[in-house]
Amino acid sequence: MRVIIFGATGSIGQSALHVIRQQRGQDSIQVRAITGNNNIEQLCKDAIEFNVERVVTANHDNLPKLKDTLIPYGIEVCSGPDAIVETSKMGSDWILSAIIGYNGVPPTLEAIKNCKTVAIANKESLVCAGKLVIDSAEKYQTTILPVDSEHNAIFQCLSGENLKSVRKVILTASGGPFRNWTIGEMKRAKLSQALAHPTWNMGQRISIDSATMFNKALELIEAKYFFQLKPEQLDVIVHPESLIHSMVCFCDNSTIAQLGPHDMSCAIAHTLNYPNRKPANINEIDFAAQGKFTFEAPDYQRFPALRLAHIVLETDGGLGVVFNAAKEVALDRFISGEIGFLDISCLVERVLTLPEMISLQHRSPGSIDEVSEINNMVRIIASEISLNKTGT
Ligand code: NAD
Ligand code: MG
Repeated sequence: MRVIIFGATGSIGQSALHVIRQQRGQDSIQVRAITGNNNIEQLCKDAIEFNVERVVTANHDNLPKLKDTLIPYGIEVCSGPDAIVETSKMGSDWILSAIIGYNGVPPTLEAIKNCKTVAIANKESLVCAGKLVIDSAEKYQTTILPVDSEHNAIFQCLSGENLKSVRKVILTASGGPFRNWTIGEMKRAKLSQALAHPTWNMGQRISIDSATMFNKALELIEAKYFFQLKPEQLDVIVHPESLIHSMVCFCDNSTIAQLGPHDMSCAIAHTLNYPNRKPANINEIDFAAQGKFTFEAPDYQRFPALRLAHIVLETDGGLGVVFNAAKEVALDRFISGEIGFLDISCLVERVLTLPEMISLQHRSPGSIDEVSEINNMVRIIASEISLNKTGT
């Protein structure tokens, strides 16, 4: 099996290499290419261990260092966003899309044109280009599989079912580190506190997105496109134990849920071996020790991201790109200390409700160039909006 990993140095990428490392003994898995950005040490270490054919860094400045280390091993090295996109043309049986943020969208779309199976962790691909992703997968007869734990769970719950008999899909949310914080406390939340996720160990940006619940908001949009659902079929429930990864309620009121430990290796291994399953070295849930599962309704006042997601869900145009780009800029501005924690959603709401965004509500971008154009435009607007910092 030939494999390519986009975003190999990240949290998901490293989990994927861990799964492959464990399975390599039984299967012949050939990692053809890996990509990363600035963690060159990790990229080189993995390239040598997995004896890959090509390594790509998104940052041109890192190319000399890659060359020095990898050319003696006969590994091809290249740099830049276009080189990442081109890499999917090498051909592979399974490609993992695990770059963080909008930068993962163009490589995902190109991978769908060139590979048999694309495992999508990069939720931004469905949020920003959901229709393009689904249409391309159909056009190129490519299997797309969801890695995001909620979507992977929904996919498993739907196995053998008719989509027409689905009444509702319920995405579970841990509630993040601020689940029990007051709005006053959240106003003063620091970066280090936003990063302290109670159950999952993830990359920096998605951890903060979990604290604001923008992660769940993106996942609602991701689910709409992945499973072709109507907005009223999507729901969120807070489940702090994070062991039920999502549920599907059918028209006869039967509900199927998927459970597993909080380890992304589970979903990654599922997509790598699909439609088969392979033994995995992952701890099973100890139900007796767990004792109970709890659930709470989400608080739309403290977590406006969920309300804002519905503005996007109710339309079928380019608002997903707007939502994501505004959120990415707001996140950068929070990380740099320029705005407070609650300002992240204020900024996204300001951008999403600007008069110039109305025309995008029902105009779906027809190409990746159009998606990129909207993304760039919104990033400029969101960077220029001034807010009174609430966190001080
Ligand atoms: P991460 O920050 O740990 O890793 C991101 C990867 O993207 C790294 O390999 C990095 O080098 C690469 N990258 C960063 N900037 C880049 C750029 N400009 N161009 C090309 N590559 C770049 O992120 P992560 O937590 O592994 O998340 C990756 C994706 O998976 C995200 O879309 C996230 O929403 C999704 N996801 C993550 C988890 C998780 O548990 N971490 C769970 C579900 C979904
Ligand atoms: Mg998720």
